[in-house]
Amino acid sequence: MKAQIKFRMPDGTDWYVNKTFNDRQHLDNYMSKVERDKDCFVDEVWYDESEAHPSEPSCEECNDKGWIDTYNTNTSVQEIQRCDECKVFTSDDEAKQFKNK
Ligand SMILES: [Zn+2]
Repeated sequence: MKAQIKFRMPDGTDWYVNKTFNDRQHLDNYMSKVERDKDCFVDEVWYDESEAHPSEPSCEECNDKGWIDTYNTNTSVQEIQRCDECKVFTSDDEAKQFKNK
């Protein structure tokens, strides 16, 4: 994601930074680091949210992993199963093979 940040410097001047960030977290980290390093503060920030990676996983069941580590009550073992919510894998075996790679 591209972002433009307007920092207000200690002497009252404005400082614009144009930079590309991995995601919103990266942007936040960068801003707080600059604020600390330069003793300035963020006045305004513009960014294109559409370019950012979604911070929320689209599948809450498996956090977008496609598999879940679960306790199988039928066989009484802890095992990898495919996530039945997003169905990334076609079977539990496929999920296991992926996980064991
Ligand atoms: Zn899932």
